[in-house]
Amino acid sequence: MDLFEYQARDIFEKHGVPVLGGVVATTPEEAREGAEKLGGGTVVVKAQVKTGGRGKAGGVKLAHSPEETAEKAGEILGMDIKGHTVHRVMVAQGAKIAEEFYFSVLLDRSNRNYLAMCSVEGGMEIEQLAVERPEALARIAVDPAVGIDEAKAAEIVDAAGFADDIKGKVADVIRGLWTVFKAEDATLVEVNPLVKTEDGEIVALDGKVTLDENAGFRHADHAELEDSAAADPLEAKAKENDLNYVKLDGEVGIIGNGAGLVMSTLDVVAYAGEKHGGVKPANFLDIGGGANAKVMANGLDVILGDEQVKAVFVNVFGGITACDEVANGIVGALDLLGDHATKPLVVRLDGNNVELGRQILAERNHPLVTLADTMDGGADKAAQLANA
Ligand code: GDP
Ligand code: MN
Repeated sequence: MDLFEYQARDIFEKHGVPVLGGVVATTPEEAREGAEKLGGGTVVVKAQVKTGGRGKAGGVKLAHSPEETAEKAGEILGMDIKGHTVHRVMVAQGAKIAEEFYFSVLLDRSNRNYLAMCSVEGGMEIEQLAVERPEALARIAVDPAVGIDEAKAAEIVDAAGFADDIKGKVADVIRGLWTVFKAEDATLVEVNPLVKTEDGEIVALDGKVTLDENAGFRHADHAELEDSAAADPLEAKAKENDLNYVKLDGEVGIIGNGAGLVMSTLDVVAYAGEKHGGVKPANFLDIGGGANAKVMANGLDVILGDEQVKAVFVNVFGGITACDEVANGIVGALDLLGDHATKPLVVRLDGNNVELGRQILAERNHPLVTLADTMDGGADKAAQLANA
């Protein structure tokens, strides 16, 4: 889960990383009040969107009075930045910037490690710096078992080439950012720019934090950081039911068990769709091992709630949950849904007790259900029905 800058700011503050005061506002009037709260001096009005390059897009503006703050907020609110509409701004205390640096620490999946990156040339887009002048971006591996201790922080500031008089302060801030990374179970903590102010203080002026949702169970406070307004309503509903669902842009609803099987089902349906008016998979949905009636009904309910869906392909391999249980699940789900089940269902079962499973579905003889013998055949039938 990616956080907004103001949420990152709050988390930095909680762990003792130096930041400037900041207040969130959703209207120009709130922005004016925010500026007053911050003392009425110079502030920066910053678009809160989960994308970079806000500065360049005109989403970061200085204001010198509460009136001007309201005015600037009015300009930024509603703005579109790379496809993200600005619903909130942060009014932040203005900083007198002497120098801009860059620091990040992230999960380095390809090396099964953590990686810290640091540069005395911050502010600009770091991807550009990494390509144009890779030597200006220090990359230091961080052993997860050790983390960024005093020695590692010193290694990072040396490699980045900080001036001697600020090395110590920067190293302290970097250790604070490591604390954020570790304590909050983040997979990314990035500060661009990390600045030196005119009075020599080191401050995190921007923050990008990605939290590891797999660690959500040990962070009760992380749930409220979620941007429920932005979430797709179907995805939100699926999440409430603990379903592994991703909304896609097609017409064939997909239900399967096991991520691998569902992924290949998407491919097969997309391929079959080419012959049937270009229909595509409408979603990813893995109902996992325990495909009982309740789980099946919840899954079907989410998929049938997708207006774009014209037909559904249920592709289940009976392993731990045998096919007869899955078939009973489907029958039970259709009974539970009653009139809500309105779209044709193609069902392909294979694996344990497949004969019995097919028999259950055949006997029930539900008008919406078509049985398929193979995955390719089922995909083709579902695509055809979706195109009808
Ligand atoms: P981004 O463009 O989305 O990364 O947004 P940033 O928060 O990094 O802001 C972009 C740029 O605006 C920074 O690199 C700074 O140069 C400038 N900026 C941000 N906050 C302040 C501030 O308090 N005072 C001044 N003078 N400039 C700021
Ligand atoms: Mn930035």
